Amino acid sequence: MDLIHQELEEIKKILQIKVPGSELISCHKNLVSVKLIKTKYKQLTACLQFPADYPNEPILIEVKSKVFSPSLVNMITSICDKEAKKHIGRKQIILILKFLQQFLDDNPLLPCREEWASIKKNILEECDSDKVKQKKGMIQVKATQGNYFLKIQATIPNNYPEEPVKLSIEDHNFPGPMVYYFISQAKEYARQATEPPLKKNPKALPFKAEPHLKKTMEFLIKKCCKRFPQECCPMCGKQSLPENPADIIKDGKDDKYIERVYCGHLYHHGCMDAYMKTPPFENGKMCPTCGLRIYHDKWNISPRLAEDRWAHGEARQRELEEVVDFLS
Ligand SMILES: [Zn+2]
Ligand SMILES: [Zn+2]
Repeated sequence: MDLIHQELEEIKKILQIKVPGSELISCHKNLVSVKLIKTKYKQLTACLQFPADYPNEPILIEVKSKVFSPSLVNMITSICDKEAKKHIGRKQIILILKFLQQFLDDNPLLPCREEWASIKKNILEECDSDKVKQKKGMIQVKATQGNYFLKIQATIPNNYPEEPVKLSIEDHNFPGPMVYYFISQAKEYARQATEPPLKKNPKALPFKAEPHLKKTMEFLIKKCCKRFPQECCPMCGKQSLPENPADIIKDGKDDKYIERVYCGHLYHHGCMDAYMKTPPFENGKMCPTCGLRIYHDKWNISPRLAEDRWAHGEARQRELEEVVDFLS
């Protein structure tokens, strides 16, 4: 029996033991093909062919995958080629398959490789920094805007994108309640991408989990960290957040305290308070920047009640003025 026959027999016998979770599709002297499945989103098929002068030449490898992009498949193929060269002179197939399986295990970020590349290219700016811990499946980004920063950590679970990315804010210098909103909203986007809606639309296609790393990171970086430090108060037109994060007001009754309303615009507490207490009140108060109705817990009163309070305040003001007149 020549070496190729020996190798084929060995593959049939011990592949399952050496490379658990692999599936032997064909095992002939013209083609050996094996499916490696780590998760639904991390799987590939390796097609191996013996060259004329095997094993003194590296085995010929073609990688196929329905879930990885063509560029990733090319990359995997070329690292396998390099690996095969290390084993010239001996049986190479099981060694290559073990190597491939280890590669899938060691790279939890594979299912979001394109998303991460796009984040780096299109979202991150020169002032931002990032760190990738490939083996832990972890991405860390420090986004910066002026004196403000947000340190975001994203961990990619094994079953991404069926399982949501784990997001956390490791450090920041924004007002606490704002960061609570940032992270809650980002987690909500991840949830929506991975859980079917409660109210099912009978006409909708069956639910399918969607990749969501880019959407959640874009939200945190662009729509939170980059946006809010530049945002101006719709009432006074001045920058809402102070230039220096150390000057952020924590007292909710202070005129300069930041109120984030439903539409997303940032008001100074004093500016909003004056606006919400000035007529007209019918149909509620609208945000002058975007035209959406303002909903806020602190001013959660009906137009009628606002009207009454305003009238009462006016009457009281007139009384006070009359008293002043009387005294002077
Ligand atoms: Zn203002
Ligand atoms: Zn608005």
